[in-house]
Amino acid sequence: MNILGIETSCDDTAVAVVNSDGEILSNVLSSQTEFHAKYGGIVPEIASRKHLELISHVCFESLEKAQIKWSDIDLISVTKGPGLVGSLLVGVEYARGLSVVLKKPIKGINHMEGHLLSPLLTQKVPFPYMGLVISGGHTEFVLVEKSGKYLKVSSTVDDACGESLDKFGKQIGILYPAGPLIEKLAIEGNSKAYQFPLPKVKKDPLAMSFSGLKTSVMHVITSLSSEDLLKEKQNLCASYQYALFRHVLVTAKKVVLKYPVRALTISGGVSANMNLYKTLSDGLSVPVFKPAKKLSTDNAAMIAYAGFLRFKAEGPDSLNFEVFSNLPLASYNTV
Ligand code: AMP
Ligand code: MG
Repeated sequence: MNILGIETSCDDTAVAVVNSDGEILSNVLSSQTEFHAKYGGIVPEIASRKHLELISHVCFESLEKAQIKWSDIDLISVTKGPGLVGSLLVGVEYARGLSVVLKKPIKGINHMEGHLLSPLLTQKVPFPYMGLVISGGHTEFVLVEKSGKYLKVSSTVDDACGESLDKFGKQIGILYPAGPLIEKLAIEGNSKAYQFPLPKVKKDPLAMSFSGLKTSVMHVITSLSSEDLLKEKQNLCASYQYALFRHVLVTAKKVVLKYPVRALTISGGVSANMNLYKTLSDGLSVPVFKPAKKLSTDNAAMIAYAGFLRFKAEGPDSLNFEVFSNLPLASYNTV
């Protein structure tokens, strides 16, 4: 069985083909980063227009790379939320069109479920595991008892970790997405040069909060002359990144203490950061699994795979499902 996955929840247009053995036959992605960089973040209107321009090309390329014909597709799996509604609609409408024309079933998938299952595509991760999805839009820990059984146990109450990096980057003159350059500069800096308080969320000890750290670093930035800011860039990146990841680690420790698991997985854009991986691997007593970058950032292979598992358990969706900017993760009974 071949599953065509379509992912357009944010600013990446992605189409992949995965078979029922979990083999990735193609995983094509067209990034829109260059169109959004000058605005310092993603512009929803631009994102949906670009998806419209790109979706067909990316889909044809994905089929070509997988060396399959349209008639070889058995299931269409598409992200239905959470995400930017205008962007999601492009992917879902395209998928609906394919479903009608090819007379093949369709499955609408939660983007977070894709991220949580993506490590399974290339690694043998033992269940139960704790999935950390850490990106520009999300920072949350989800207990994955098995594929299809999820419990969200912690999330940020304000900014996402990647968003926090991007906002900090903007203040010190780093273009969106700032994470990769902050990681590079941090390697040359001293993480103890500036000390930031460890965030605490009073009502929920497992929750995370990144907005206070952002305010703290803003105070430092505005207190420096432009000359000193230039000199201090590496130290600021190292110290700020350290503060963010320490907060994630301290939360991870509490989470795995309360919910004993056999592993932690990380996915989402920020998981590309090697310092985050090292911080968690060194600081936790459970092994940490991180898929390759092409599978940990937004991609359609994870949507195809999640769609296949859910289709096996629930059967197809009706054609008229909706898209959602917010979409809680729903469990299902595995067969
Ligand atoms: P996503 O939301 O999954 O599309 O990922 C984009 C987010 O990941 C942005 O906030 C980026 O700044 C962040 N990001 C990407 N690469 C890195 C990295 N190497 N270190 C830290 N953050 C990163
Ligand atoms: Mg994502």
